[in-house]
Amino acid sequence: MNNVTLSDHAGWVARANAVTINAGLFIDGMSSPAASGETIDAINPATGALLTKMACGDAQDIDRAVASSKAAWDDGRWRHMTPRARMDIFRRWADLVERDAADLALMETLSMGKPITDALTIDLPETVVTIRYFGEAIDKVSGIVTNSPHNAVHMVAREPLGVVGAISPWNYPLLMAAWKVAPALAAGNCLVLKPSEKAALSCIRLAHLFVEAGGPPGVFNVVTGYGQDAGKRLALHPDVAKISFTGSTAVGKQLMIYAGQSNLKRVSLETGGKSPQIFMPDLADMDAAVDRAIMGIFDNAGQVCNAGSRLLVHADIHDAFVSRFTQRAGELYVSGDPLDPATSLGPVVSHAHQSSVLSCIDQGVQQGAHIAVGGGSDAARPDGAYVTPTLATQVTPDMAIARDEIFGPVAALIKVHSEDEAIRVANDSIYGLAASVWTSDVKRAHRMVKALEAGVVWVNCFGDGDMTQPFGGYKQSGNTRDKSLECLSGYMQSKSAWFSLD
Ligand code: NAD
Repeated sequence: MNNVTLSDHAGWVARANAVTINAGLFIDGMSSPAASGETIDAINPATGALLTKMACGDAQDIDRAVASSKAAWDDGRWRHMTPRARMDIFRRWADLVERDAADLALMETLSMGKPITDALTIDLPETVVTIRYFGEAIDKVSGIVTNSPHNAVHMVAREPLGVVGAISPWNYPLLMAAWKVAPALAAGNCLVLKPSEKAALSCIRLAHLFVEAGGPPGVFNVVTGYGQDAGKRLALHPDVAKISFTGSTAVGKQLMIYAGQSNLKRVSLETGGKSPQIFMPDLADMDAAVDRAIMGIFDNAGQVCNAGSRLLVHADIHDAFVSRFTQRAGELYVSGDPLDPATSLGPVVSHAHQSSVLSCIDQGVQQGAHIAVGGGSDAARPDGAYVTPTLATQVTPDMAIARDEIFGPVAALIKVHSEDEAIRVANDSIYGLAASVWTSDVKRAHRMVKALEAGVVWVNCFGDGDMTQPFGGYKQSGNTRDKSLECLSGYMQSKSAWFSLD
């Protein structure tokens, strides 16, 4: 890690001041300003300080990037390369991300406030694994020859789609982008990435590293810019075969409209959530369960699509649960400078988002919720966009705090009295991304897993998994799966070829 150890706060501060930042568009293997010359201020939410001015691409930059990716698609510089050669590039690409892990982690921390320890131990290793996993899959994908009549041969080939547009969020800027970029490229597509305007620096570097690894210029382009300009143009572009999106449900719906208004492109959506964590009275270890519940909602300051933001706790264990949660929340999540390796809770992404989270808490109180812990900004850090880890109790399922995605460190606790009620309340949501069940009764666990309307269900854990796990939601949490081979097939289409032997 280039002489900066995990425990060295001063070292990270010094490195942050020296880190090289690419803030231009990346098209055809070259960095450039936006055609308009406009920029976006990248602000450090922990201090309010200006980090850099990032190119603010718009429709004309998207058009240039899509034309570049289309040219790369048409001349086959990527899809016609042998699978082994593409695998070698992926392998080198993963190695380069590992080489630059400290700088990439710093970019995450500086641009969206994630604690450096989290960036280094979660975002970066998981990004590397993502690239390796899909790289390894490149020559494992195959079509089939079917059992056709004796006078014919029927083969079904798996082919890439063409130019993919990826639109990604800011909460895990590099990792969420990698979940799109790696499978799209592994499948043989060319790609234009439009990362979030709030945190794009690591994504720009990811594309530079692809080219440094030997990836042909033009295959992976990045246009930074606002959603309503650059993102919209990408989603409306007639030469884009698919939009792969992670972000809010509202924008996801808009993207489906753009597809209908343009070329009927495929739209895969990973969107919002309000995930329930259910605690039954027969759970094996209350202390362990509460610690995981806390992690499930306060990790990344609650800015996680699958954050376990609804705690459904059985009445028999309710008081003990609340008392343990209240005690442990402040011990496990201590706010501080995200560049300090001891910090477990950074600011939320921006001051505007801080206001939005705080007003959701206020609304909860107005509707009758009780704030058992937290509930405000951090008085010790007035310049930063901090929100203290918050537990709201006496919440009923109809309250906004129980229904809306807040995307901050706010848990809403609802008391339930039976397994049936827990399932009913859990499923009473427009979302269905994830859920967890805590019980020592294996039959109950199976029953509840079957009954829960969620794409991912954890039993006696929360957030566990690896790259083999399809990740995505039911209902308005999305219509696809990231990670896993299931995701890879979403970047391909089948071609049936029927050969007559007559
Ligand atoms: P967002 O929807 O505001 O923005 C996401 C991306 O869409 C950004 O790049 C943005 O610029 C772009 N965008 C915005 N308006 C657009 C438009 N009209 N046309 C095209 N692009 C547009 O979401 P966010 O605030 O960046 O991220 C938070 C949301 O992401 C939360 O709802 C969270 O649950 C969700 N999320 C989901 C997953 C998942 O896997 N399901 C993972 C991470 C985040």
